[in-house]
Amino acid sequence: MIILFLFIIISLPRKKSGRRRRVLARRVTRKRYTKVGRKGGYQKIHYVEGVAHKFCSNPNGTCPKLKPLSEFNRRSSAKTGHQDDCRECQNIRNRATNPDRLREQLIEGSTNRRLRGLVTRGKDEKLDIKAIFKRFENKCFNCDEELDINAEKGSGEYELDHTCSIYYWWPLTTNTATLLCGKGKNKCNGKKNRKWPSEFYNKEKLRSLSELTGIDLEIISGGPVMCPDTVETFTSNMEKFISQWKKEKGGQEFMAKEFAKLKKHTGIEVPNELWKE
Ligand SMILES: [Zn+2]
Ligand SMILES: [Zn+2]
Repeated sequence: MIILFLFIIISLPRKKSGRRRRVLARRVTRKRYTKVGRKGGYQKIHYVEGVAHKFCSNPNGTCPKLKPLSEFNRRSSAKTGHQDDCRECQNIRNRATNPDRLREQLIEGSTNRRLRGLVTRGKDEKLDIKAIFKRFENKCFNCDEELDINAEKGSGEYELDHTCSIYYWWPLTTNTATLLCGKGKNKCNGKKNRKWPSEFYNKEKLRSLSELTGIDLEIISGGPVMCPDTVETFTSNMEKFISQWKKEKGGQEFMAKEFAKLKKHTGIEVPNELWKE
């Protein structure tokens, strides 16, 4: 009995010393966390050996694992400053949903172009590419890169920009087109995209663009304006265009967007009973 008592006394301090103490300390660190966000909706940032971790919120069950914050994409609006699910889970999710989303965007883009074309097409002409190249001296209007008029179509060597975007119902014509270098992200046409000229060119460029295209300097220097000609074509024959759009798949969504745009930029309101189903 005495021997047992002595043994316990001797072994007690040993429990807290050396390796054992370090393991204990680590366990304590592992448990430490801070709460971020408001009470009720807070999230925990855990510290594993001094490194901030959080749980992945992936609902599919393969996570959630406590992972270092560096494995989460940043999202400044989130309480933790990071996405709820980890990059790995996000990638899996994106792979599963993106093909559809991309396809939808493409279909939507081409539908809009086609339906918008019903009202602008009458104004699109067969382009005189030679005349456009001559006017721009065979150079990209924005960066002065020499462009080859004989380049294969679709090679991305050059693009004819609407100058004022089709998004605002401006047609593509020989007189008003801008010659730009190709499509890629760092090529001028890719960079300009649907931007209004004033959002893309400086004042000097705008002046010369106005001279080259005959578009009023005031129009291209200000904010986006809808093409007055096309708007006039539409308003003078509203029923005809609406009945064409109504027959098209996606026509309702298209009209909702275009008529909201028309109202915002011109104040013209298309009565709901004319088009809404
Ligand atoms: Zn995950
Ligand atoms: Zn260029």
